[in-house]
Amino acid sequence: MSKILHRSIHADLPVAVGGRGIELFDAHGKTYIDASGGAAVSCLGHNHPHVLAALHAQLDKLAYAHTGFFTTEIAERLADSLIADSPDGIDYVYLVSGGSEAMEAALKMARQYFVEKGESQRRHIIARRQSYHGNTLGALAAGGNEWRRAQFRPLLIETHHIAPCYAYRGRLAGEGEYQYGERVANELEAKILELGSDEVIAFVAETVVGATAGAVPAVDGYFKRIREICDSYGVLLILDEVMCGMGRTGTLHAYEQEAIVPDLIAIAKGLGGGYQPVGAVLLGRRIYDAFATGSGFFQHGHTYMAHPMAAAAALAVQDVVREHGLLDNVVRMGELLNHRLQERFHNHHSVGDIRGRGLFRGIEIVADRGDKSPFDPARKVNVAIKREAMARGLMVYPMGGTIDGVQGDHILLAPPFIVSAGQIDTIVERLGDAVDAAVARSV
Ligand code: PLP
Repeated sequence: MSKILHRSIHADLPVAVGGRGIELFDAHGKTYIDASGGAAVSCLGHNHPHVLAALHAQLDKLAYAHTGFFTTEIAERLADSLIADSPDGIDYVYLVSGGSEAMEAALKMARQYFVEKGESQRRHIIARRQSYHGNTLGALAAGGNEWRRAQFRPLLIETHHIAPCYAYRGRLAGEGEYQYGERVANELEAKILELGSDEVIAFVAETVVGATAGAVPAVDGYFKRIREICDSYGVLLILDEVMCGMGRTGTLHAYEQEAIVPDLIAIAKGLGGGYQPVGAVLLGRRIYDAFATGSGFFQHGHTYMAHPMAAAAALAVQDVVREHGLLDNVVRMGELLNHRLQERFHNHHSVGDIRGRGLFRGIEIVADRGDKSPFDPARKVNVAIKREAMARGLMVYPMGGTIDGVQGDHILLAPPFIVSAGQIDTIVERLGDAVDAAVARSV
């Protein structure tokens, strides 16, 4: 019996013993195609020789130096390369060990920014109901996913939630996409005015919603309107790109496709591709300068921040992504994946929506395509699809959850950026069989 407190206590997990390319192997010799990159983490697949060599080299040099005493060459190189690869507006990098830590740091950075500027009355965070920003208490407070929050709510700081931009269910009959985006974005302005126009710190959103809803991009114009509203009231815009960032949607940052520049960006997963735990907050000069000309100190920190091994992994992963032109493959294979999903599911009685960008795609499972009614949540259809997929040697990321009062089942696909056309065909074939088998047992 395992002595690990696994997140799902009664799950009988296979033992992963190895991996190569987009495949993982278990202790019985079974092979799984990693079509979800774990949880949109493994952007280079497994055991990439360049990353392994970089990790060995760093380990030979220096495994750890506390950031209270030293900076390291490898962490400085990672920061320089992230800034060089990003569009204008990102000038500094704060390195941590994962997505929740990055979101916690971004929230505290936003609050301290206003304290430094003498606006300490700003105390409210606004986020969206359809969102997940991490499991630590601050990040969980910002998130709007009740399934994850409910039992912890008494411990969470107060945050305020507005509607997500979720066209499949949110758009009114006869409403154009653009009007829909503007209407839901305007909820932010109403909320700011309700809370006090100079009392809000930040608005927080995932650029493309991942784990809670299965790759939901905003409609055109939504984020532009959000940026305008934030600017009108001096509110910071924090984008959580922990899951959708670092190339997953076809551009290094998902927000590049929205033609806006956020104030703070949280990244993690694809940054280190799973080779080491690593995350970061990206920020512009305006925030940095408030700290630099103010207290000169960011009141935050972790023992393992800017860890040399994590920096070595992230630098190597990003070098491979850039030097092998993998974002082009994300775009090409992302289009193919979308095409194959449309072919397989566009008339499927239990698939209501197919969506996403790049190699970040989701399908929404429904009991009735006509009225979009979901399956009874007690049936846990998403979990059944995951189980059927695993039986067929395919990893997909399942999620059920309440989104604006509706319980939905979603399946997220996020294969490594090195995926080939033949592998895309196999992924969709196995997923199709898994959906059919799971749904057949649920009706
Ligand atoms: N933010 C988003 C959008 C995520 O999807 C996740 C994890 O799934 C997190 C934050 C938390 O990241 P981590 O699990 O690395 O703490």
